[in-house]
Amino acid sequence: MKDKILALEAKAMQLEPGQEKRTNWNEQVLDYANRFLEGLPEAPAFLDEDNKGEALLDFPIPENPVAIDKLIPLVEEAVDKPALNPASGKHLGYIPGGGVYPGALGDYMASVANNYAGIFYAGPGAVRMENMLIRWMAGFLGYPETALGNLASGGSIATLVAITTARDAVHLKAAMVENAVIYLTAQVHHCIHKAFRIAGMKESVFRAVPLNERFQMDTQYLRKQIQLDREAGLKPFMVIGTAGTTDTGAIDPLDEIADIAAENHIWFHVDAAYGGFFALVDNLKPKFKGIERSDSIVIDPHKGLFLPYGLGAVIIRDVPAQFRAHYYQANYMQDALPDSHEYSPADLSPELTKHFRGMRMWLPLQLFGVAAFRASLEEKALLCHYFYEEIQKKGFEVGPPPELSVMVFRFPGNDESNQQLLKYIQHDGRIFASSTTINGVFWIRLAVMSFRTHLKEIELALKLFGDAVEQLGMRK
Ligand SMILES: *Cc1c(COP(=O)(O)O)cnc(C)c1O
Repeated sequence: MKDKILALEAKAMQLEPGQEKRTNWNEQVLDYANRFLEGLPEAPAFLDEDNKGEALLDFPIPENPVAIDKLIPLVEEAVDKPALNPASGKHLGYIPGGGVYPGALGDYMASVANNYAGIFYAGPGAVRMENMLIRWMAGFLGYPETALGNLASGGSIATLVAITTARDAVHLKAAMVENAVIYLTAQVHHCIHKAFRIAGMKESVFRAVPLNERFQMDTQYLRKQIQLDREAGLKPFMVIGTAGTTDTGAIDPLDEIADIAAENHIWFHVDAAYGGFFALVDNLKPKFKGIERSDSIVIDPHKGLFLPYGLGAVIIRDVPAQFRAHYYQANYMQDALPDSHEYSPADLSPELTKHFRGMRMWLPLQLFGVAAFRASLEEKALLCHYFYEEIQKKGFEVGPPPELSVMVFRFPGNDESNQQLLKYIQHDGRIFASSTTINGVFWIRLAVMSFRTHLKEIELALKLFGDAVEQLGMRK
C-alpha cells in the first residue's frame, strides 16, 4: 500500500508547483493584466460581433496539463473581448463599477492563504476584518454600533438575508404568509420579488404604491393603504424604499417612510444597492435622510466602491434576529460554538464555507483611503448632471434631473426611432448605454458609475449621440 501511496503522491505533487513555475505563471498573468489595463482607453465598451466565446469549446476540460501560454490568448479572445466590457470607463449602461485593481490583489491574497472567514473561532482575523467593514458602512449610513449584517456575493443574496431576517423577526409562519402585506413601488429592483419568492412569501400581498412625477413613492397613499389593509384584517409586514432606483436613480422619501413604518410597527427595508455609497459625499448625504431609521439596508460595494463583481452587503439593525434566522448548530461544528468576541458570518447568512470577500474590499480602502472614493463618487454625480444639461442642448428630451448618477433621455419621436438610435450606439461600441421602459415609453438610460469614467468619456458619449441622430436622419 505504501508504494501505491508514494506513486500517487508523486503525481499529486503536481498540484504544488515550485517557485520557478509559480513565477512563470505570475509573470504571464501579470503581463496580460497590464496589457488589458493599458489597452482599456482604446478598447470598445461593447464588441458586437459573432464571437460569443465559442473558441472555449475547443478546449474541453483536459486530463493532462495545458500550458498557460495557450490559455491566456484563449481567455482574451473568448472571455474578455466579446460583448460588454465591464472594466471600461465607457460602459455607461446598467450599473457599472469597473473593478479597482487592489480588489484583484485582495482576492489573490485571500485565495493564496485560503483564509476561513465563516467562523470566528477558525479565522478571527478574517471575521474581524469583515465585521469592521460592515460596521464602517453601518456607521456612515447612521446605524448604531450594535448593528451588523453580512458581506454577501451581491445585492440579490444580501436582499434575501434581509427578507428572511424580517420574516423570522416577526415570527411570520407559513399560515400567515397570505395575510402579510409588502409595500413597494413598480420601480423596485426585481431581486426583491425573487427574494420574497425564495423566502416562501410569493403568496403574500404586494401593494404597488403609486409614484410621483419624479418616480418616488407616494407616501400619502402608503399611509392610507396601510390603514385600509389593517381594517381589512391583513398584516402590514414590510415597506421597501429604494435609495437610487436602477431605472432612474430616484430616491424614495425615506424620512417619511421611516415615520410611517415606525407608527405602524412594520419593517423598513432600504435598497441602496446602487446608491448607498453616495452617502459618503457631504452634499449628497442629506438625500439619504431617514435611512438611519430603517431596519435593514442593502448596499453593493461592487457598484459604489467600484470593486470587482462579487460583493454586496446587507446591514441589519436587529442582529439577534438575523442570528436566529440563519444560525444552526450541527454536531460536527461543536468546536465552533458561537463566540462572544464577534458574530460569525456563518451564523448570519445561508453560507458556511465562503469566499473571504472582506480582503478585496479592505485592501483598496486601505491603499487608497476613503477620500479618493468620496471624490470619485462626487465626480460621477457631477458628470451625470453635466450630461443631463448638455444632451438637452442637442435636442434630446430628458427625464427628471438626476438625484445621483443615473438618468434617462430620448430623442423626440417614437419608441422605434429611439430603439434604432440605441442599437446604432451599441453596434458602434465605443460607448455602451442601455435602455428601460417607463409607463410604456422607451427611454435610453445613462449610468455613470465606473471609476474609469471621467469628463473625456462623457464628452465622447455626448458627441456619439449627437452624431448618431444626424447619421440616422432623426433630426427633422
Ligand atoms: C444592482 C441592484 C440590485 C441587485 O444587486 P446585485 O448585486 O446585482 O445582485 C438590487 N437593487 C438595486 C437598486 C440595484 O441597482
